[in-house]
Amino acid sequence: MSEPKRLFFALELPDDVQQQIIHWRAANFPADSGRPIAAANLHLTLAFLGEVSTEKQRALAAMAGRIRQPGFALELNDAGQWLRSQVVWLGTRQPPRGLLQLANMLRAQAARSGCYQSPLPFHPHITLMRNTAHAVPIPAPGFSWKVPVTEFGLYSSEFSRGRTRYTRLERWTLNDK
Ligand code: ATP
Ligand code: MG
Repeated sequence: MSEPKRLFFALELPDDVQQQIIHWRAANFPADSGRPIAAANLHLTLAFLGEVSTEKQRALAAMAGRIRQPGFALELNDAGQWLRSQVVWLGTRQPPRGLLQLANMLRAQAARSGCYQSPLPFHPHITLMRNTAHAVPIPAPGFSWKVPVTEFGLYSSEFSRGRTRYTRLERWTLNDK
């Protein structure tokens, strides 16, 4: 029997968008705002699953693979800070219907499989900085990255040697066929 893994479903950002975002972050936030998330780790969590056995992982992946819905465009044009969790995030002022549909489906499947699900509503966001102990000035509106979303993935999260690593275990293409 293999060990349970800490898993989540998420969207990745294209490399060029990741790079543009970290340059914008460096130019628009004070250097001491918090701990910046590395470009390759920028992601949008659709459903957090917690510790999951290999057997349950297989069942969740099979259900995810049966999701049929078209891709969608995600416009990253909003940012803010959650003081309580000490994060600065990038998000969208108009969550596309496809994003909410995908997250709701994955969260419902996870809940039915007995995975931990947050009682809080889904707030689609990409964490930009952590440990923002103080109020951070948020850049004025006007920034925007339009991201075509054509796939989603299942990721594991491992903490070792002082850092968190995500590994994509599987991915699925969004199309309605
Ligand atoms: P750290 O090791 O500092 O916690 P992390 O938060 O990125 O780093 P995880 O805690 O493994 O790593 O989380 C993986 C993803 O799932 C992140 O996007 C995180 O925001 C999200 N997540 C973690 N815990 C929860 C939770 N209880 N409810 C909803 N989403 C969560
Ligand atoms: Mg965490």
